[in-house]
Amino acid sequence: MTNIRPVVPPTQIPHRDLLQLEVLPDEEQIRADIERLRRERNAVILAHNYQRPEVQAIADFVGDSLGLSRQAANTEAEVIVFAGVHFMAETAAILNPGKVVLLPDLRAGCSLADTLTAQGIRDWKARNPGGLVVTYVNTTADVKAESDYCCTSGNAVQIVRSLPQDVPVLFAPDRFLAAHVIRETGRQMDVWDGACHVHAAIRPEDVQGQQEAHPDAELLIHPECGCSSQILSAFPDLQLYSTEGMIHRARASEVQTFIVVTEMGMVTRLEKDVPGKTFVPVSRTACCEYMKMITLENIRNSLANLQPRVTVPEEIRVRALRPIERMLAIG
Ligand code: SF4
Repeated sequence: MTNIRPVVPPTQIPHRDLLQLEVLPDEEQIRADIERLRRERNAVILAHNYQRPEVQAIADFVGDSLGLSRQAANTEAEVIVFAGVHFMAETAAILNPGKVVLLPDLRAGCSLADTLTAQGIRDWKARNPGGLVVTYVNTTADVKAESDYCCTSGNAVQIVRSLPQDVPVLFAPDRFLAAHVIRETGRQMDVWDGACHVHAAIRPEDVQGQQEAHPDAELLIHPECGCSSQILSAFPDLQLYSTEGMIHRARASEVQTFIVVTEMGMVTRLEKDVPGKTFVPVSRTACCEYMKMITLENIRNSLANLQPRVTVPEEIRVRALRPIERMLAIG
């Protein structure tokens, strides 16, 4: 099992800092504290697209899982604050064994990652000898350590296309992303029956309701969405977009209004990166409570205390690094 524990005692913080944090709890002061601590700690703050608007606003980099993995691999900062969920912080720890990786709230997990265990992968491989295991980055370090390749929604098609044709492919854990990859590549795969509760809950009726309200809008649908398979059977030519793909499409399209069919935090990122256009969330309930556990306050506190840390045991880290590096080399 992956260990989550501090590797060194918390850094001593001057008493002055603690007093200052207690008496000035307003948001402006929290932002100022974060700025100061970020410099003092030589820290970088990486935020996922689904984070709260105020967290995206103070981040050094906002992106999808792939973009954040690349930033984590290349950063020269000594401390990485991960404004995201646990498996993402683990990925940063796998790529940066000498650095301090902070996850401001350790309860920030992922329902999709929870559908798969390392033992589950071992049993699956035993039933499919010679198969290559491709796992979405939304998995624990233990699961990555049992995988041959990692992928994100942005490069899953490219990764599967790069594999030899004569071997079985075992794809996990998201069944909706797998359906998209099968459609795009024409390749049959053995698929793990997992899904994210947020994306699986987005219904075709939600999309239809927003289309009726915004008849000129273009759809930006993420392949993880529960509705995507059903929508695609009705509109087989419809494109699906990774979160980064949504930004490129919104910039390139002549359309003014877009219905964003994924977690609603993506609307914040689109509004910032594609100003002047209108983005409508498909549903106000498409909201990941794990992502929203990260706040300005707990970011400030984690920078002040250098806690809570996410670490990965070296034996797991080395094995989990291999599929991540293969993914980064391909796309
Ligand atoms: S939106 Fe879904 S896949 Fe993403 S972190 Fe939340 S539970 Fe996991």
